[in-house]
Amino acid sequence: MTYHGLAPGPRLLVLGAVHGNEVCGARAITQLIEELDSGALAIERGMLTLVPVTNPLAYQRKQRMGDRNLNRNMAPSAIPQDFEDRIANVLCPLLDSHDALLDLHSFHTGGLPFVMIGPQNNQGELEPFSRAAEEMQLALHTGPHRIVEGWLDAYAQGVQRRAAAPTQREAAVPRRW
Ligand SMILES: [Zn+2]
Repeated sequence: MTYHGLAPGPRLLVLGAVHGNEVCGARAITQLIEELDSGALAIERGMLTLVPVTNPLAYQRKQRMGDRNLNRNMAPSAIPQDFEDRIANVLCPLLDSHDALLDLHSFHTGGLPFVMIGPQNNQGELEPFSRAAEEMQLALHTGPHRIVEGWLDAYAQGVQRRAAAPTQREAAVPRRW
């Protein structure tokens, strides 16, 4: 669902339920669509695209993923191998045609909402980025309790550690009798 303001402005994409069992984003987006359609809210400028359920297979199954975790690997593929490959082929052009992404996830424990941002501007291989200032503005406008930075580097280090020592984790698990 895409809404346009009459004045030019940023193009924002908002995704819910990338993980199918995290439904708060889907609920919030559905409510927002109702408010926009009823005229209770209006887009003044730019463009807003709302995707309440990004991974319908996972959502339908009420589980984190369909065939695999969309959040860990998302790139277009000429020959899709699984359901998430096909989602990526729709989602990647959609991402390309927007300036910013707000990706809504849920936690299964309580607590106040927070925003994860990053990386910092860089020209590296993992995730080159040049919109850190705009991203911080977007994060601040969501009115968060906390903003978390640097998670991508921490995640990449964790992946490297597991790849380097795949048996260490198992060795640390206490034996069950
Ligand atoms: Zn999630």
